[in-house]
Amino acid sequence: MVLKKFTNFLLELFFPKFCFNCRAEGDYLCQDCQATLEIAKQHQPITPYNSNQNLKDLYFAVNYQSPLIKNLIQKFKYEPFVKKLAKPLSALIIEHFQLLDNKPPFFASSPTNPQSEYILIPVPLDKKKLKRRGFNQAEEIGKELSSFLAIPLIPDCLIKIKETIPQVKLTAQTRKKNVKGAFFIKNKNLVKDKKILLVDDVYTTGSTMEEAARVLKVAGAKEIIGIVVARAKPGQDYF
Ligand SMILES: [Zn+2]
Repeated sequence: MVLKKFTNFLLELFFPKFCFNCRAEGDYLCQDCQATLEIAKQHQPITPYNSNQNLKDLYFAVNYQSPLIKNLIQKFKYEPFVKKLAKPLSALIIEHFQLLDNKPPFFASSPTNPQSEYILIPVPLDKKKLKRRGFNQAEEIGKELSSFLAIPLIPDCLIKIKETIPQVKLTAQTRKKNVKGAFFIKNKNLVKDKKILLVDDVYTTGSTMEEAARVLKVAGAKEIIGIVVARAKPGQDYF
């Protein structure tokens, strides 16, 4: 512990953190810049795109329109891939939970009172993409949420078996077809009778999450709730 603290001290001495937006020293997203973001104070349930929706609910911290958010997520997801941005991005979700008057059912958990019904599952990447990026951004956010919510993260259960065209390049109609059959559950016992918190960075039309939720339901999951950093309206994710 002492050694870790000392190592962190040295790291910060030689590699200080800078705000990715205003370059202020101290953090990857400084408090002043974070304060300009409008974090949702209320839970806004999703309007189902179709009636037989498998994704029961969705929690998102911010709207994707904000140029700062767009930029932050872009830096996180696209080259040169700033993995450490997972922390400020997850902090937005946590802040959102803390702002809610009615806390989500999975929020009651604490390290001394783990809610064994729930597990966190990141939306997976296919092998090729994972190799290129070096990490799964949804999993990185999942790690942060896991330690905050005291809910276990199960990263290798839901896997992506099909390479898909990036959803941002497709219309709402073709997105569904694109992700159909893309996911597979490796170990059904891990999800059976569980309430799943499905984690991703951005939610747009919901096709990806819905397809993942469908596969999880088939495998015996009780219910699936999505958690993302930002919600984009279809068409807004083109940059
Ligand atoms: Zn800043």
